[in-house]
Amino acid sequence: MISFPFRVAAKYVMPGGTAGRFQIFIFHRVLDRPDVLFPDAEPDTYRFDRIVKAISAVYNLLPLDDAVVRLQNGTLPDRAACITFDDGYLDNYLNAFPVLQKYKAPATIFIATGFMQGEIMWNDRIIEAVRSFTGVFELPELGIRKMDCSSISCKRDVIHALIGKVKYMSPEARLGSVTDIESLTGFVQKERMMMCEEEIRALRKKGVLIGAHTQSHPILAALDDAESRREISGSKSDLEAVLGESVTSFAYPNGRYGRDYDKRHTEIVEQLGFEFAVSTNQGIAAKDSSLYELPRFTPWDVSLAKFMARNIYMAMKG
Ligand SMILES: [Zn+2]
Repeated sequence: MISFPFRVAAKYVMPGGTAGRFQIFIFHRVLDRPDVLFPDAEPDTYRFDRIVKAISAVYNLLPLDDAVVRLQNGTLPDRAACITFDDGYLDNYLNAFPVLQKYKAPATIFIATGFMQGEIMWNDRIIEAVRSFTGVFELPELGIRKMDCSSISCKRDVIHALIGKVKYMSPEARLGSVTDIESLTGFVQKERMMMCEEEIRALRKKGVLIGAHTQSHPILAALDDAESRREISGSKSDLEAVLGESVTSFAYPNGRYGRDYDKRHTEIVEQLGFEFAVSTNQGIAAKDSSLYELPRFTPWDVSLAKFMARNIYMAMKG
């Protein structure tokens, strides 16, 4: 990708100084190899390398806490951007970090702390169970009637249907359904997928900023306020115990205002002493952004030039 024209365009839509604004990229996983089930969802190491190379050639990458301070005091450089990851996948440590180091790209990882002892996130339990399963999938309790599960595209349909059904359930109901899915397929994901405390500490020592992302990754909007507060403050104190320092940034699970979190949660986050929080509302962080709802997005495109054009277009829109 030729980066010069994108640098010029980015400088125009994302000036620095008192009119400063910055883009926050969001990632989740960096896979060992492309996933045949979801080829467009998560980059593998090779693709992530190309993305970070392109991003670092166009933007001035900053640590997120630094960018927030510089936004407030009007000292952002032009073309400012930050890289973030949600959840705390082990592949962030194994695959993403070496690439970030290669390009000297600072990053923040938001950790759901209930998975640091080897537990698997519910969505991954569903994905891995269905991946292993061939035959006819039927789970009337979840409204799934006789879905063929023998091809890649069928498996994908079953996974989407199941995740859609289970996502907004109460944590207990969700756990029950996930266990049902596992017993139906006869597969339980055992291999560790998330970072342990040691790995999180090691990344922090190497300069990665660590933020909180609740304990069990619930949809906060589906909890009562006391449960939300417990989840949010629990993840903060869990990480502070791991790192021996104060944890001042937070990311809302799923992150869409109104659907996944609302004003009650931004208030809890502020009351608990976080300095800022990130959402997945699309947009560019600017002077008038709420520090407790900084927007984030990462466009997807096979072509890196189109990927970059989308970034610039989104920045232009707001
Ligand atoms: Zn998450």
